[in-house]
Amino acid sequence: MIKGSTALVAIVGSPIAQVKSPENFNTWFSNNGLDLAMLPIDLQHAALDAFIDTLRGWRNLCGCVVTVPYKQAFASRLDGLSERAAALGSVNVVRRENDGRLYGDNVDGAGFLGAARKHGFDPAGKRVLVIGCGGVGSAIAYALGEAGVAQVTLSDPETSRAAALAELLGKAFPGVGITTAYSALDAFDLVVNASPVGMGGTGELPLPAALLGTLNAATLVADVVTSPEITPLLEQARERGCAVQTGAQMAFAQLGHLGAFMGVTPLEI
Ligand code: NAD
Repeated sequence: MIKGSTALVAIVGSPIAQVKSPENFNTWFSNNGLDLAMLPIDLQHAALDAFIDTLRGWRNLCGCVVTVPYKQAFASRLDGLSERAAALGSVNVVRRENDGRLYGDNVDGAGFLGAARKHGFDPAGKRVLVIGCGGVGSAIAYALGEAGVAQVTLSDPETSRAAALAELLGKAFPGVGITTAYSALDAFDLVVNASPVGMGGTGELPLPAALLGTLNAATLVADVVTSPEITPLLEQARERGCAVQTGAQMAFAQLGHLGAFMGVTPLEI
């Protein structure tokens, strides 16, 4: 029950009906007896500047989760950013300070890594393949660089995106080997699909099928796609004996990071 005393958080994007955060957060708030609630907000682009100004003045709002298509637009309009959000030029969570200033972070990569650690993946010294170098692929690759992987291989049909991410990672993590060339999968400790390929039951694979024959059973194979939960990539990886990580597991592992940044949950929930 939302009351006059209820403190609020929000999630903003467009469309918004598909997001799972409101039910996840509201269930957690209710199970923990907290007078807190999350509102979903479907925002028109033309209202973005006015909305961000409203957030500054919205005194019973602790923060806001930011989703597609506003992660980049928010990053350029806030009062401060974490180092990773500034490097990525993208935020997925905002905290409102008592004086109205808005601070942003991007915890997509932290969520991914949290889920991977639960699968026993220790990033230090590992070789990883990141397929898809857009917003989420960049955040995941950045988090893997921060966590001390030895080598990151990047793949994207939009070669300018792979090149831009390679440059960003090269500057931020000079000790990490960055490449866009590979001809087999057996040398990777982690393969992650960070592209939308496979979403919505299309049956598509983000890699040529022949390459999957080179997959090593010791490799963790992850997908960011949440629907279907087991994508064609994960299905084939399982058949080859690999451990698999779903997009839902990544999303769930982010909840504590999002909530903790807004000051409404502990990091581990
Ligand atoms: P984006 O549009 O910024 O980036 C997608 C990238 O994938 C683009 O650079 C595109 O060129 C590339 N791509 C397309 N086909 C490819 C292929 N065959 N091989 C390699 N790269 C290819 O999108 P985004 O914001 O990064 O989102 C990507 C996906 O991540 C979406 O499906 C989104 O729903 C999902 N997502 C999941 C979570 C989660 O917690 N599980 C969180 C955020 C986003």
